[in-house]
Amino acid sequence: MTLWFLRGLRRGVVTTRYPARPDDSAADLPTPPVFRAEDLDQALADRLVAVCPSHALRRDADALVFDVGACTACGRCQEAAPGAVTSSGEFELAATSRGHLVKRIPLRREARA
Ligand code: SF4
Repeated sequence: MTLWFLRGLRRGVVTTRYPARPDDSAADLPTPPVFRAEDLDQALADRLVAVCPSHALRRDADALVFDVGACTACGRCQEAAPGAVTSSGEFELAATSRGHLVKRIPLRREARA
């Protein structure tokens, strides 16, 4: 404790420069996923819904509905479908309306015989 206090006195500023500048540690933070719509069909969407522990995902007909506000960035959906789901790298998710955090991702139409 004393060491940190003395270091602070010597350097002046002891906190990071965030939010004026991105903090390097942000690169290591878990972040919500992004979904590649062209790789998502109904079956895969249903599998993603099933693995999501926070109910941030649901399927509504031909769309995967993603509630970013409910997502805990656990990574289970990415583990289930690494080709269709990647990490967004984005953790600053402030919004002025709760509805702005809910995204509809259109699913790939399946070929009909
Ligand atoms: S990262 Fe976790 S909580 Fe977020 S959508 Fe995927 S499975 Fe659900």
